[in-house]
Amino acid sequence: MPISLTNSVQYLDGVGPQRAATLEARGIITVGDLLSCLPFRYEDRLRFTPIAEIIPGQVQTIFAEVTGGGGTTVRFQRSRRSIFHVAVRDASGTVYVRFFHGGYLEGKLKDGQKLVLHGKVDEDRYRPGRLEMVNPQMEFIGASEGGAADSTEVGRIVPIYEAIGAISSRMLRRIIYRVLANFDGNIPEPLPPQILERYRFPARREALLYAHFPPQDQSIELLNNYRSPAQIRLIFEEFFYYQLALALRRLGDHSRRGIAMRVREEKVRAAVKRILPFKPTTAQKRVLAEIAADLEKPFPMNRLLEGDVGSGKTIVAFEAATIVIENGYQVALMAPTEILAAQHYLSARRIFQAAGYGVELIASGRKRSRKDEALARVESGAAQIVVGTHALIEDPVAFKKLGLVIVDEQHRFGVLQRKRLIDKGVSPHVLVMTATPIPRTLALTLYGDLEISVIDEMPPGRTPIETLWKEESQLLAVWEAVRREISAGRQAYVVYPVIEESKQELKAATAEYERLAKHVFPQLRIGLLHGRLKNDEKDSVMDQFRRNEIQILVATTVIEVGVDVPNATLMVIEHADRFGLAQLHQLRGRIGRGSEKSRCILVARKNISGEARARIETMVATCNGFEIAEQDLKQRGPGEFFGTRQHGDAAFSVAQPLRDHEILELARREAFALAENPQRAAEIIARLESVSPSWRQRYHLASVG
Ligand code: ADP
Ligand code: MG
Repeated sequence: MPISLTNSVQYLDGVGPQRAATLEARGIITVGDLLSCLPFRYEDRLRFTPIAEIIPGQVQTIFAEVTGGGGTTVRFQRSRRSIFHVAVRDASGTVYVRFFHGGYLEGKLKDGQKLVLHGKVDEDRYRPGRLEMVNPQMEFIGASEGGAADSTEVGRIVPIYEAIGAISSRMLRRIIYRVLANFDGNIPEPLPPQILERYRFPARREALLYAHFPPQDQSIELLNNYRSPAQIRLIFEEFFYYQLALALRRLGDHSRRGIAMRVREEKVRAAVKRILPFKPTTAQKRVLAEIAADLEKPFPMNRLLEGDVGSGKTIVAFEAATIVIENGYQVALMAPTEILAAQHYLSARRIFQAAGYGVELIASGRKRSRKDEALARVESGAAQIVVGTHALIEDPVAFKKLGLVIVDEQHRFGVLQRKRLIDKGVSPHVLVMTATPIPRTLALTLYGDLEISVIDEMPPGRTPIETLWKEESQLLAVWEAVRREISAGRQAYVVYPVIEESKQELKAATAEYERLAKHVFPQLRIGLLHGRLKNDEKDSVMDQFRRNEIQILVATTVIEVGVDVPNATLMVIEHADRFGLAQLHQLRGRIGRGSEKSRCILVARKNISGEARARIETMVATCNGFEIAEQDLKQRGPGEFFGTRQHGDAAFSVAQPLRDHEILELARREAFALAENPQRAAEIIARLESVSPSWRQRYHLASVG
């Protein structure tokens, strides 16, 4: 019987119950799911480079067999690290191959075993003319010694898959090859015909076939860049449905009743003007206009405010809050840490005092009686702006008339937490702020159901921060620099990666604080701040630092977000190699907030790993948060960047927002256009069922269409 898309993978040749379980753990249940797992790379095994023609230093794919002759045999060294050595040859020459931690290969590589090896080929440093490969990717060809090579293995462009558990790339290839060879050919076409025509996309059926086993004349470069017609189509498809879901969700939002605020009234405008302590930048003005236009509409705002650290998002949020309060509603402002919440509370009080608005702080760990009073004021409506941490979303907090929810540093909160706060009002407006500026295309995928506003300009009078990389041996000079800064009347941060000493041999904030206070800066006023202090201790340390009673603040990453003390102009970060790029940038954002020149000194050994080096070099080279975020994404990938894969990554198996951003833009345009016609959209979504029943869920299209 021919195989069809809906068949379970369990009954395929070469699968069986155990492998089926492995596949199922990855969400691969049907043949359709299996065919969605595309190769991550392709090898041209039509034309192998003969060993004699290899130019050292290049990545090559070679086809050779294990050789026991010529004095070289398969040997296994039991040193501290087990290194497995093997020599391979083709008709033209020999390559010496080493596998670190290669103990598992012992006894597996018989003389004459045919292998395809992929990796960098170098010249042996000590033996000129001798070629070597270290830890190449390796595939056995032919079942055993002398066995014939399978047609899936050589003589074609060969797909290389990510292994799934114990299922190797080679096994997957065989399974998929057999599926395609016995396939009933019935792959429905879900994309609208107009789109297929407009972009000359191949049909889904052809695209899948060629993405797994490309035709001989397909360019290997295009394939490995994911730009063959088949791959482009499949990437487009994933973005298209994802964006269609976002577009429909957004339309749904627009049909919800919201609170239309009066914005143009003279009284409201005057109130907004009155709270401004300075002249807003052009970017701040533009962004406020975008927010105000949303607040006027009869459906809830859903907007993301992006801007680099220190670009002045808070005041924009406060202006929006003013509009809402003048309309008789309450505002909730949620921050990710107690320190940041306290900071916002203080600025809100300072700014709103004159207007006579009630400002309240809800935080865990305050005194019971004070907390109850605060809760009562929120419930009665006497508190018009309510600042807090996630304590805000807890049950006892009830609002009288919540009109606007502001979430600061969105990347720290899950979508659910945001939703729980929103549910405390009746369709309140929502403004989400993030200080991890991300490229627009990525913002579109991650927060595609939000409107996006960007503050792309810094307040005037900032001098760029100078960033230096110093070694630990230079610490004396670093402390000298701190001393000079303090005697000029300014303040400094010294940051450590951990609170207490541990086996990791990292300097810890607590111990270093004591050492610095006693031995390095005995004449200076020095304070300690970390996450395990009680709230009132944190408040008191921050107050003293703000008033310059503390001159040097030793801290952990608790100061990463929000802390705003413009007189602090120097930051020393020890073990800088231990921090992520976004984190370093956030930390550095604590200085450079006034007009004085600020400096950030990153302390780390010079012989650190390549990745850590790249992070520090990026920090030294640029202060631009958008550039840094882009670098960070390249180094870590979006999943890790956000510390979570919940954001839609899961919806993509081929597509990658950063790499494929042009295709994303295209798909977004088409999807949003289609969503304008709900009936057509419903038809297209219905067709997805025929491709795979799991797809509606995958794209969260279950609730629409
Ligand atoms: P972030 O975007 O990181 O939240 P903040 O809102 O904390 O930045 O603003 C950083 C600093 O810049 C604050 O001290 C704020 O008072 C100041 N600031 C904001 N906007 C302006 C402006 N238009 N002119 C001068 N200073 C400003
Ligand atoms: Mg902020």
